[in-house]
Amino acid sequence: MLQFTYPGPTLNACYHNHSSWSDGGTDLKETCRAAKKTGLKEFGLSDHWVVSPYEEMKIVEWSLRLDRLDEYVETLLKMRKELEDETFSLKIGLEVDFFYENADSVLANLEKYPIDYLIGSVHYSNLFPIDHSADPWRALTAEEKKNICEIYWHKLEGAAARKEFSFIGHMDLPKKFGFINNDEYFPHAVRLLDIVQKTGIGIELNTAGWFKECEEQYPSLAILKEANVRKIPVIVNADAHDPAHLQRNFEKAADVLCQAGYPRRTFE
Ligand SMILES: [Zn+2]
Ligand SMILES: [Zn+2]
Repeated sequence: MLQFTYPGPTLNACYHNHSSWSDGGTDLKETCRAAKKTGLKEFGLSDHWVVSPYEEMKIVEWSLRLDRLDEYVETLLKMRKELEDETFSLKIGLEVDFFYENADSVLANLEKYPIDYLIGSVHYSNLFPIDHSADPWRALTAEEKKNICEIYWHKLEGAAARKEFSFIGHMDLPKKFGFINNDEYFPHAVRLLDIVQKTGIGIELNTAGWFKECEEQYPSLAILKEANVRKIPVIVNADAHDPAHLQRNFEKAADVLCQAGYPRRTFE
């Protein structure tokens, strides 16, 4: 599995992206070809891998189909053959939803595949979808919101302790729709970073947050400062669901990382 070192890769890499094989808008092959055209030196596709442990939620529509993993890996290996040269490298990834209930078996199964890296993400607090739409958040009481966030951070701690992940995805995701005071969970984030540091994995600066209601990258500047103190590698990612969004706001991300104390990131 890919292991990143401090401070993290250049801006000419993007490892968190989706094709229409999960919830992206463009076919997998087309996405890879478009990535090479943008001038990226390293492109990683990380379609969603959601193996739900819950009876009430057996099929997750926005995940890569669970019977399609062989085909996913084989197709990406073919695309690597077609596209790789001295200017471009293609990595095979997955964004894996972490559940305490099945993490051991899910991660052991993925080890059988020639996958380059796994992103550890949490999109559910029990059955509650954190980032799908604002509507379910609107119906919540303050107490329920707090409970959802507590479960979220607790699950993310489980992911952060796993060496199988190369980095943790969109750390402070519950802020997405603007329904919570993200600062309240700063101590949770710091505790998470301690675990990430101990495990020896990275986090990402996910630029997609700038285009959501929260209008801020994931995670916040305050959290990135703490990550820098711990010398945790940060991978700048677009979380692109459309190849037009690859490297979106990457220069802005470089500025934020500088403010957080990281060395200036460039496209070199
Ligand atoms: Zn995600
Ligand atoms: Zn994603």
